[in-house]
Amino acid sequence: MMRNSLARTDLAFVLHPQTDPALLEVEGPMILDHGNGVFVTDSSGRTYLEGMSSLWCAALGFNEPRLARAAAEQIARLGTYHTFNRRSNPAVIDLAERLVALSPMPDGKAIFANSGSEAVDTMIKLAWLYHSGRGAPERRKIISRRRAYHGSTVLGATLSGIPSMRGAFAWPDPGVLFAEAPHFYTGGKAGESEEEFADRLVGDIAAMIEAEGAQSIAAMIAEPVMGAGGVILPPASYFPKLAALLRGHGILLLSDEVICGFGRTGEWFGCQAFGFRPDMMSVAKALSSGYQPIGATLLSAEVHEVVRAEASRLGVLGHGFTYAGHPVTSAVALETLKIYEEMDLLARVRALAPAFRAHVGALASHPLVGDARAVGLIGAVELVADRATRRPFAASDGVGTRLIALALEQGLILRNLGDTIAICPPLVIAPAELDLLFTRLRQALDALSDTLA
Ligand code: PLP
Repeated sequence: MMRNSLARTDLAFVLHPQTDPALLEVEGPMILDHGNGVFVTDSSGRTYLEGMSSLWCAALGFNEPRLARAAAEQIARLGTYHTFNRRSNPAVIDLAERLVALSPMPDGKAIFANSGSEAVDTMIKLAWLYHSGRGAPERRKIISRRRAYHGSTVLGATLSGIPSMRGAFAWPDPGVLFAEAPHFYTGGKAGESEEEFADRLVGDIAAMIEAEGAQSIAAMIAEPVMGAGGVILPPASYFPKLAALLRGHGILLLSDEVICGFGRTGEWFGCQAFGFRPDMMSVAKALSSGYQPIGATLLSAEVHEVVRAEASRLGVLGHGFTYAGHPVTSAVALETLKIYEEMDLLARVRALAPAFRAHVGALASHPLVGDARAVGLIGAVELVADRATRRPFAASDGVGTRLIALALEQGLILRNLGDTIAICPPLVIAPAELDLLFTRLRQALDALSDTLA
C-alpha cells in the first residue's frame, strides 16, 4: 500500500492506544485533518459523518469558533496556572459555579482533573477519605460491574469489567467486587420480565453486600448507560432500587457520567434520566465538547462536609493534578456550558430523540440485528448470528469490526464494541444529517449481509 510521508512518520514514532499494532502496520493510521460541523476530513481528502462524536465527546461538532476564541483569549491573558495552595483563577471559579448549579447537587462542590479517568480516581479517593472522616477507614472495597468502563489509569483498569482493559493491567486483588451488567437482552432469563430482571440483579448485589460485610464496602460506581461495555440501558427500576439498597448500608453511590453527562440522554445527567441521586459524580468529555482535556468530580454537600473536615484534620487534601483547574481548559469548558444553555441543549436533544429512536428502532428488523436500543442521542445495534435464539457471532468472525470498515467506505465513522455498534453523534447534528447517518449505516449492514450470505 502506498503511504504518504505523514503516515510513514506515524508508523515510525507513534504508539497508538486501543489499537492492534499488527493491524495498524497493515492498514496504516487514519489521519484526521480538519472538521466541519458533524463531519471530519482525513489527510487524503475523504470526508466522513462522525457518528461517534470522536470518543463520545464532541457535542458541538468539530470546529466551534467560540471555543477557539475562548482558548486564544485565555492563553493571551493567563496561559497557565495551578490551583494548589489556595491558588485560583477567574475561569475555573466561573466554571465551578456554573457546573455545580447545573448538576443535581447544586449545594455541592467541584474538584477538577484532566480526564475522565482522573475524575474517577479522584472520586474513589474521596470516597475513602469520606469514610475515614466518618470513623470507618476499613470501608475500602468498591462494587463495580462486569462490562463497566471507568478509565485507563491503573485504578480505572482495575474498576473496569472489560477483559482487554484488565488483562495485564488490573491491580491484583484490589478489593473490587463485580456485579452483573444490567443488560436484559443477554442477561434476562426465559419468561423473566425486565422488572424481575432488575429485582434479581439488585438482589444479587444485596447478597454480595451481605457476604462481604457492608462495613468493608466504601462505594459502588456505575455508568447510568454503560458506554464502552456495549451501550447498555438499565431497566427503569434498576437504579432507584439499587440506590435505596446502597443508602441503607451507608455505601456511597458514584455515578460515572463521563459519557452520559451534558444532555446526551435528554437530561443534563444520566442519573436524572435513570432516576437516582448519586453521592458523587465524575464528568469529562462533553464538559468541553472534547476540545480540551478536562474532567471534574462533583461532591454532594453531605460528602463534601465530611471530606472538608477530614482534610482539615489531616492538614491538607493530599490530592491534585498540576493542570487541575487550568485556566485555558476551564475557559473552554465554561464557554461550552454557556453555548449549551444558550442553544437550549436539552430542548434540542429532546426534539431529535424521537427521530433518533425511530431510526435505531427501524434497524431492529434487519436480519443481522438482534437488539436495537436508544435513549436521548445515544444508541446501539447488537449484531447476532441468529435472531431467534440470540446466538452471537463467533468472536473470530470479527463481524463488528467488518461492519465498521464497511461504514467507513460509506463515509460514516462509528465504533464497534465487539459486535455491538455504538451510535453517539454530536448533539448539534441536524435532522437531515441524522437521516444520512442511518442511511449509511443501513447500507453498511446490507453490504455486510451480502458478504455473509
Ligand atoms: N468513565 C467512562 C464512563 C468513560 O466512558 C471513559 C472514557 O471513555 C472514562 C471514564 C475515561 O475517560 P478518559 O478517557 O477521559 O480518561
